[in-house]
This record gives sequence, structure tokens and C-alpha cells, in this order.
Amino acid sequence: TRIAVLKESAPGETRVALTPETAKKFFALGAVVAIEEGAGDSASIPDAAYADAGAHVVSGAQAVNGADIVLGVQAPDPAALAGANPGAKVAATFDPFGTRDSVNAYAKAGLEALAMEFMPRITRAQSMDVLSSQSNLSGYKAVIAAANQYGRAFPMMMTAAGTIQAARVFVMGVGVAGLQAIATAKRLGAQVSATDVRSATREQIESLGAKPVFVEAVEGIEGEGSGGYATEMSEEYQAAQAELVSSHIAKQDIVITTALIPGRAAPRLVSDAQIATMRPGSVLFDLAVSQGDATGGNVEGSKADELVEKHGITIMGFSNTPAALAPDASALFARNLYNFLSAFWDEGTGAPVLDGEIGDAVRLTRGGAVVNDRLIKS
Ligand code: NAD
Repeated sequence: TRIAVLKESAPGETRVALTPETAKKFFALGAVVAIEEGAGDSASIPDAAYADAGAHVVSGAQAVNGADIVLGVQAPDPAALAGANPGAKVAATFDPFGTRDSVNAYAKAGLEALAMEFMPRITRAQSMDVLSSQSNLSGYKAVIAAANQYGRAFPMMMTAAGTIQAARVFVMGVGVAGLQAIATAKRLGAQVSATDVRSATREQIESLGAKPVFVEAVEGIEGEGSGGYATEMSEEYQAAQAELVSSHIAKQDIVITTALIPGRAAPRLVSDAQIATMRPGSVLFDLAVSQGDATGGNVEGSKADELVEKHGITIMGFSNTPAALAPDASALFARNLYNFLSAFWDEGTGAPVLDGEIGDAVRLTRGGAVVNDRLIKS
């Protein structure tokens, strides 16, 4: 089996889907590994490190020639994969709901697209889950970036010249990213509170030493749909949530929003009117900025990769947060891919056999057709 990796082509994508560590591991499985020259540069991994690990460092798109498996962070343009073997597997993120044309192009090219963001949220697949590994780093980076932008200190400081109050940080959406944001803000000494629509998160918030802020008055809410993901909430709930957030947000210095609903636009959690009630100098970091619409993500007015100043408050968010931590993000992403493929490795044929629940969940295209249930239904 020949595994190939191209240099990522999307603007601002600094990560790489293979590390010297995983190259060695694939090698140990009997695979031949080829990587395009310079593919690891922006993640601080020099070509020589790949060569030392036994990978072939190949110039340009030739790296995919004869490949049975192509690994990517963001799926390459299928046109760049003309040299790969017929029916080659491509394991990467595809943004399947967002870029349907590219999924169709994969089908047409006869490639087997494997979308890592469709990895089922089951215990067995935890080590293969790129959404979790990357969200965790994003939650950390959001707090660090917001703290850097914030003109005041995070921890309480008692000095001879007087006391500085601890920053108040409010985390909205307590999935993988939100939990890490809470933990990071706590480590920096902030006073942290958090909210989510899933009531199961209350205990998790408390266990990190933060204060849960929850809608109590509305009946029949659970907020948890299939696979542990959030569902869209009723209008009544949304109104109650808005009221609760309004009174709480006015007292916050930093707001980190992480709320996502699979296959839908990010829910709007903070309005411009609410932002206007915050103290000047406050910072909002919108981790869902790219999953929203023209008016913003979770935060009204947020713009990807821009510092938006409104009412003396900064709204910020990155289009690709894990790319700001490329070496760590690449290390975890590459391990997720290795854990995925190696779990299905068939020693007889020396290739992965992707059968069962996990294969069916991630496979978008095969044999010239779109075969994924979630895409066919949507
Ligand atoms: P996500 O990125 O889909 O969403 C982030 C958070 O936003 C979620 O907690 C969600 O409930 C919340 N949210 C959505 N709408 C909201 C709203 N209107 N207001 C406030 N919050 C809102 O979530 P995620 O990080 O992928 O985690 C989702 C769940 O999956 C969690 O329970 C997590 O523990 C679980 N999980 C399981 C596995 C596994 O078992 N393999 C792996 C990763 C995550």
C-alpha cells in the first residue's frame, strides 16, 4: 500500500496530515509513504525529518503517483489526485455539508472520500476523532488570543500599589472546545462561568471549578440530540436564554463562544445590543465565526480574521483556529488518521478494510457515487 501526502493548498492552512512519527508507524505496517516537499514546513517539520523516518520526499503533485491512500488535513482538489490509483482512498476533512460540489467531484473522479468530521462519537472512535483533537486546541487558543487582545490582566493581583481584579470569562457552548476554554481561563486565573443547551454539561462545568449559567424556567428542555450533539432549541427556550445571557453578559470581560449544531449555521448567541452593555475593553472571541453567515457566527458582527471594534469592545475569531497551533494540531491530526487506518489494517492484504459502522459513517463516495446516508438525506 502506498500512502501519499500533498502540501496543503488552502490559504492559511499550516497543518500537515502526516508527521515523522506517524510515517514511521505506517512504515511498520508495511506501507510505503511519500510526502510532497515542504509539506511540513509551516508546521515546523522539515523534509529531512520525514526522510529520516523513512518517507520518500517527492517534489510537487508527483507525490501522489500510484497512491492507494491520500491523507490530508483539508481534502485536496480531486484534480490534483489524477496520479493516484483508481478508487484511491482520501482521508481528510471535506466540510461535506458546505462543499457539496467538491464531494460530487470526488465521486466523479472515482475516489473514495473519507470525511474525518463524520467520525461517529463512540468510545471506540475517540482516538480517531479530528473534531475533538482540533477543537480542544482551538478552545485553548481562543482564550490565549482573547487574553492577548484584552488590555487588562487575567489573574487577581494584590500588589503594593493596590489590587487588580480577576477578569471575568464567560464560555458559551461547553463541548470539547468550551471545556478546554474553561480550563485554560481558570489556569490563567480568571473567574469563569459557562453555559450550554445540554444540561449534562452542568456537572462538567462545576468539576472544572467554573460557575454554570443555565436556563431553568423552560420545561422539557434537554438540548441533546443524536451522538451527543446539540439540537436546535424552541423559540421559548431561545427567548429565555437571551434574557439570561443579557443580564450575565453585561458583567463579563471576556466571552468565548463555541456553539455549533451539525449541518446547520452556527446559532446566534450574542446580539449587538448585548455587546453594547459590556464594559469598554472587553473581548469576544467567536470560535464559530466561519460557520455563521454574513452577519456573524455566534456573535453578531464577528468577521473571520478581523478585529471588529464596536462600542469600545473587540470582536474576534479565526477562520482556522487550529492552524494557529500547527505543530501540535498536526501531531494530533496525524495520530487520529493513523489510529483510524491502523484499526482497520488487514495484515493479509497489507491495506485497510473499512467495514462496519465507522467506515459507513465516514465514507462519502465510492465507485463513482455519493454513498453517505447523511448527505443523501440532506
Ligand atoms: P459542538 O462543537 O458540536 O458544539 C459545541 C457546543 O455548543 C456543544 O456543547 C453544544 O451543546 C453547544 N451548543 C449548541 N447550541 C447552543 C446554544 N444555542 N447555546 C449554547 N450552547 C450551544 O460540540 P462538540 O465539542 O463536538 O461536543 C458534542 C458532544 O459530543 C459532547 O457531549 C462531547 O463530550 C461529545 N463527544 C464525544 C466523543 C466520543 O465519544 N468519541 C468525542 C467528542 C465529543
